Amino acid sequence: MKNKADNSMEIIFDAKSENESFARVVAAAFCTRLDPTVEEIADIKTAVSEAVTNSIVHGYDGREGQILMRCSIVDRDVIIEIEDEGVGIENVERAMEPLYTTKPEQERSGMGFSFMEAFMDELKVTSGKNSGTTVTMKKRIGVEN
Ligand code: ATP
Ligand code: MG
Repeated sequence: MKNKADNSMEIIFDAKSENESFARVVAAAFCTRLDPTVEEIADIKTAVSEAVTNSIVHGYDGREGQILMRCSIVDRDVIIEIEDEGVGIENVERAMEPLYTTKPEQERSGMGFSFMEAFMDELKVTSGKNSGTTVTMKKRIGVEN
């Protein structure tokens, strides 16, 4: 992959719950050169956590698998992609609705995508049944909206 990012990185890690905190710390560390506020860092960590958790609990549903996280900086934008090769989402539009969950029995509230949308400036979800899921999120750092 080659793009016109000012800086980029990617990591691949096992779909295990202990890697959720690992991934969010890595994403936060990558962003530090843009000098984000504490709140901006918290927003990015929350969004990464939600996306990685979804890959683990829905995409792989407890099975073994790998998650790829790609981060890049373009100007003052941080772009974070979280990709899994899990079961995928048949109806992305419906899945992104607030309170929609396919795992209510696991105390899931169906708010993950809503949080990603609220805490980041842009959210795009690409998925299909049995073709994995890619979540792309963008946030502009240090610029008054
Ligand atoms: P919460 O995030 O509040 O714990 P949730 O994970 O069910 O609950 P969302 O994160 O908004 O809610 O996701 C909504 C639904 O989209 C999930 O219930 C699941 O069916 C589907 N989904 C989300 N991410 C993935 C993924 N990576 N692979 C497969 N399905 C997914
Ligand atoms: Mg979720």
